Amino acid sequence: MGFDVHPFSDDPERPLVLGGVRVEGSPGLVGHSDADVVAHAVADALLGAAGQGDLGSHFPDTDPAWAGSDSLVLLGRVVEVVAIAGWRPVNVDCSVVLEAPRLAPHRAAMQDRLGAEVGAPVTVKATRAEGLGALGRGEGVACWAVALLERG
Ligand SMILES: [Zn+2]
Repeated sequence: MGFDVHPFSDDPERPLVLGGVRVEGSPGLVGHSDADVVAHAVADALLGAAGQGDLGSHFPDTDPAWAGSDSLVLLGRVVEVVAIAGWRPVNVDCSVVLEAPRLAPHRAAMQDRLGAEVGAPVTVKATRAEGLGALGRGEGVACWAVALLERG
């Protein structure tokens, strides 16, 4: 089980990257890396299922090496950690919670990019918070992910 949340940035130049896909027409998310909340939740789910801690322990946000980094690269490293621990991903399922932008036009591309990195099917679903709380006010994006592993 993985969870992540990032607030939207005030910087209009910051790109929005979700599941490894650049989404045009929306501000980006605040974060040390590219703030790809979907890739982070997937990586956290994989690490948790393999008993390998969490994303922050492997890639601390105090480490300048990861500043602005491509989260799909981090995800690839996580898949290696999982493999070394003797596990292989079977599938990963994600629920992204956001008011905007619409993810439907990007969902297939996100699934393809995440799946290629994970080496197993990754499904991405999106839902809205129906106006409730910070996510409902469109202040950020949250993602939950669940990973199934088998012995590699
Ligand atoms: Zn994150």
